[in-house]
Amino acid sequence: MTIDFTKIPVGPDHPMEKKIKWAKRIYSTFGSRLLEDETVRSMLEKYERSIDNNWKVMEQAGVVEECTRCALEDGGSCCGSGIENKFDVVNLLINLLMKVSLPKGPWDPTGCWFLGERGCLIKARHVICVNFICRRLYDRLDKEAIRRVQNAMQQETEYGFMLEEYLKIWLARNG
Ligand code: SF4
Ligand code: SF4
Repeated sequence: MTIDFTKIPVGPDHPMEKKIKWAKRIYSTFGSRLLEDETVRSMLEKYERSIDNNWKVMEQAGVVEECTRCALEDGGSCCGSGIENKFDVVNLLINLLMKVSLPKGPWDPTGCWFLGERGCLIKARHVICVNFICRRLYDRLDKEAIRRVQNAMQQETEYGFMLEEYLKIWLARNG
């Protein structure tokens, strides 16, 4: 089966349902071949490890605790509706390759499409989600902890970016 990649929705103006449909279509057509590709597998593994490491570093630094307090006690959340529009089809495809199940709709209409009752439901998040440290975190965490978090964030975004670029080239060659 071939896919006309010129029709792929690119940019923030396309509905999420449409982007998810495209990601699933590409996944069902190329998913097994992509997962057999050694480079893709190795890049996925490195990316997943860097994501796990970033969560671990954030936990140790107190970010997870502070964000939970912010969300539960002060009603704060930085995962507002519309952030999902930053995601493109390749971001969603990467989540499918990581066996993440993409939600059919937002759990909270005022929140991001991927926000669940207990936080973010996806694994490969957009760079704007990964790289965000708010004023409250800067004020409440010590500088050394912030520096460790920034390093882990940077590693996650770099591996994510490299995988995205590789997948775009792979799909352009094989699609
Ligand atoms: S990043 Fe900042 S605003 Fe967002 S949940 Fe954490 S503490 Fe609250
Ligand atoms: S972290 Fe997850 S829920 Fe929050 S804005 Fe990013 S994708 Fe959405």
